[in-house]
Amino acid sequence: MKERIFRGIVAVTLAVLTASVILIMSITYNYFTDRSWEKIASEASFIKVGVEREGLSYLTDIQSDENVRITWIDEQGRVLFDSDTDASRMENHLSRNEIKEALTSGIGRAERYSATLSVKTIYYAVKLSDGTVLRVSSKQVSPLSLLLSNLWPILIVVAAAVLASFMLASHLSRKIVKPINEMDLEHPIENPTYPELQPLLQRLEKQYQRIEQEVADKEKLRREFSANVSHELKTPLTSISGIAEIMQNGMVGAEDVPHFAGNIYKESQRLITLVEDIIKISQLDENEVKMEAESVNLAEMVKQELERIRPAAEQRNIRLWLDCPRAGGKQPVILGVRQILQEMVFNLLDNAVKYNKENGSITVYAGWQGGKVVLSVADTGIGISKEDQQRVFERFYRVDKSHSKAIGGTGLGLSIVKHGAIYHHAQIEMESKLGMGTKITIRFEELLNL
Ligand code: ADP
Repeated sequence: MKERIFRGIVAVTLAVLTASVILIMSITYNYFTDRSWEKIASEASFIKVGVEREGLSYLTDIQSDENVRITWIDEQGRVLFDSDTDASRMENHLSRNEIKEALTSGIGRAERYSATLSVKTIYYAVKLSDGTVLRVSSKQVSPLSLLLSNLWPILIVVAAAVLASFMLASHLSRKIVKPINEMDLEHPIENPTYPELQPLLQRLEKQYQRIEQEVADKEKLRREFSANVSHELKTPLTSISGIAEIMQNGMVGAEDVPHFAGNIYKESQRLITLVEDIIKISQLDENEVKMEAESVNLAEMVKQELERIRPAAEQRNIRLWLDCPRAGGKQPVILGVRQILQEMVFNLLDNAVKYNKENGSITVYAGWQGGKVVLSVADTGIGISKEDQQRVFERFYRVDKSHSKAIGGTGLGLSIVKHGAIYHHAQIEMESKLGMGTKITIRFEELLNL
């Protein structure tokens, strides 16, 4: 920026300087040309009077300015007298413009450049009363030689101006850039700088605030998560520890051992599930961990996952329906991370069984809708109230904590589904009615940049 301002100022100065020199030169040159014309015209009228009175002798006696040349020509163009050269050796002058003009209209003017263009001669001719023509000419320096003859002063002025413009440009550019360099970007709007920069600084400030807010939110979430994790882990561990203590003290009869051991087994299974879910959600949280994406056929995946939950569904006499394109139809294939997608499908199906009613049913759809691959899981279960629909995707949120626990829930299932969807740039929709059932739909966008 500094350099651009600098270059701008120097360029403008040089342009103005060049234009001024040209202007001054041309004004001066025109002024001197005008004066020269006046001078030779008045000289011509003087000499005219003398020649008309005294003839050739007047001309031979005359002492004229060495820059002025006097020529006398008769009506046939023959040179009768020339102040510079021997008249008899000079060629006929009838073809010269100024002579022709003077012969016809009394006065003639012309200007001609020398071969080198460095000298210009101006001619002024007057017709005398006897029909002859008197011509006065004067040599003039051309603009180029005027420039060359004044080269040194011009060069000195130009050099001084260039130097001054360099100094000014450097000073100005530093002065303009200084407040920008000294800006405190940590507190953008507190800077006393150019009003033109205010919109930019205001946007910066807003962005800072947003980032700060995001960081604060994330930190809050992290703290909540840690607290929740500790709490969730503590409950089964307390239970296991309590049972073990009773057994250690010999307070459990041999016949009760299977029952207590069963409890320990159940609680430790719960711990394992919990830790597994925590690991999954932490992995999804760390966006940096890039997992291998591949083409995944959701219809195939749904079929496999349905087999995993079938035993649990059969226990409660829940019927499973699958709505998928038949072989040959356009398969719901997306580019995704198989492991995450599997978790998502499993958690949705698992919930659909867990929160279903006896003899209920589950309908799964995996196919194309409106140019997107869509997966939906609908159940005929207990449903979720409007208020809870907002919250069930939060970590550890459970509508009915004791019921969820009793059926082996961790409160992390839908959170994993949500994070998996975010990871795959997919949208989640939930439709649910208390006592009627729940339908969760996931729409996958084009997945080219995972
Ligand atoms: P959990 O391990 O408790 O199932 P989730 O995160 O999977 O945890 O679900 C959060 C809560 O949302 C559940 O505790 C349950 O109350 C409710 N929920 C989830 N899926 C359904 C469903 N299909 N029908 C009714 N309630 C559901």
